[in-house]
Amino acid sequence: MTAPVGKNAATAGKVALDAPIFDPRAFRLSAEQADIVSRARELGQTVFAGRAAAYDREAKFPTENYRDLHRAGLLGISIPKRHGGLGADYQTYSLAAAEIGRYCGATALTWNMHVCSTLWSGPLADDLDMEAPVRAEHERRRVIHYKRIVENGAIYSQPFSEGGAAAAGGAAFGTEAKPVRGGWLVTGKKIFASLSGHADYYGVLCTEIAEGEKASRRNTLYLALPAKADGVSVVGDWDPLGMRGTVSRTLLFKDVFVEEDAALMPRGVYFQAAQRWPHMFLTLSPTYMGLAQAAYDFTVRYLRGEMPGTPPVKRRMYPTKQIALAQMQIKLEQIKTIWFQAITEARANPSKEQVLRAYAAQYSVMEGANEIATLAIRTCGGQAMLKSLPLERIYRDSRCGALMLPWTAELCLDRIGREALYEQGETDD
Ligand SMILES: Cc1cc2nc3c(=O)[nH]c(=O)nc-3n(C[C@H](O)[C@H](O)[C@H](O)COP(=O)(O)OP(=O)(O)OC[C@H]3O[C@@H](n4cnc5c(N)ncnc54)[C@H](O)[C@@H]3O)c2cc1C
Repeated sequence: MTAPVGKNAATAGKVALDAPIFDPRAFRLSAEQADIVSRARELGQTVFAGRAAAYDREAKFPTENYRDLHRAGLLGISIPKRHGGLGADYQTYSLAAAEIGRYCGATALTWNMHVCSTLWSGPLADDLDMEAPVRAEHERRRVIHYKRIVENGAIYSQPFSEGGAAAAGGAAFGTEAKPVRGGWLVTGKKIFASLSGHADYYGVLCTEIAEGEKASRRNTLYLALPAKADGVSVVGDWDPLGMRGTVSRTLLFKDVFVEEDAALMPRGVYFQAAQRWPHMFLTLSPTYMGLAQAAYDFTVRYLRGEMPGTPPVKRRMYPTKQIALAQMQIKLEQIKTIWFQAITEARANPSKEQVLRAYAAQYSVMEGANEIATLAIRTCGGQAMLKSLPLERIYRDSRCGALMLPWTAELCLDRIGREALYEQGETDD
């Protein structure tokens, strides 16, 4: 347990709670939003923070945290209320996920994969075009998935990455779904598949290819494969620099039969979403927003001599420390501002300015979290980076953000530069 940070720190029972990253009044959140976000923050601070070191050390999936997320109703955070969820919209989910990331990066990142199965099939799909019978069929199917989550605590993951251009949006997925009577046979390989061996369903992005057809991105399917289905295997090890509790091993699929109700989106809708709802790819950033806040919180506590488990030595009187903290605070506020704007304006058919801002927000958070963590280590000094304290884990976890496809830091720079200089379809010929 850590000492509370921030002048708005409140008390829940006997535990002094940290102030929220985004103060509900300052950021004009509704009472319902504030309630959902504080539910995540309390669970993060009072339970997940204490478990994070062991998951990281052992590269172990946070199974216990998932049981708690289920109990708190947070596995169904973005499931509509009429289906037993909390009905959180994109912005509310993002704010809650940042609070979880503040206390356990691996839990927040994997929870993101799970929640996106419901966010994308739910509020996001509701914004997209579908013929009435297709929408009715989609409604019937998604209820099957939502029921499993709400009633049984089922966990969904999102394996996209294959090691080629597909996860960056540049080519059709190499994992193939062959249409057969009543469903599909899925064959392929996914790398960096977080929750491997721990999710109940793998939300696989694959390409539907009938006999004699060529692969096309338009025919992308988003299918929930039961983890226990014949032909599914988890291979390889997982011993990375950071985000160790995500257990992102390799998944293999060999002629895995799935029925039609496994579709998390109807045919063609994922392709439409990727074109028309680009903020769907910003959902990896909340975790790292939380990590940025965590590095800052740590530094304040440490310099004030209030870090539990360390001697009460104050270091705040040195002007160099004060300047470093000021730099961290400025960076943090910059990140918070652009990110809050981006998550607030996420919607179908955003303007070009909004899309460029979303890339800039992703870049700022992913690179900024690690910059703040780096500065925190330099400022706090040698004793602060011992493994008995969370800062070195925050530093390692934060390094992973810029690598996450499809909006890696490099790809964000690439897209901003190109899309700011060229209108759609424009060339120099
Ligand atoms: C902790 C963690 C958890 C993850 N969990 C998941 C998960 O659950 N599901 C999932 O699908 N993936 C997940 N990923 C995978 C992640 O999105 C990447 O696919 C993975 O890091 C492997 O990519 P790579 O860097 O080897 O990619 P490469 O394809 O080798 O690319 C290397 C770099 O080149 C750049 N690049 C790639 N393509 C282009 C292009 N067309 N134009 C310009 N530059 C380009 C990018 O910046 C990229 O970072 C996770 C990654 C991490 C680190």
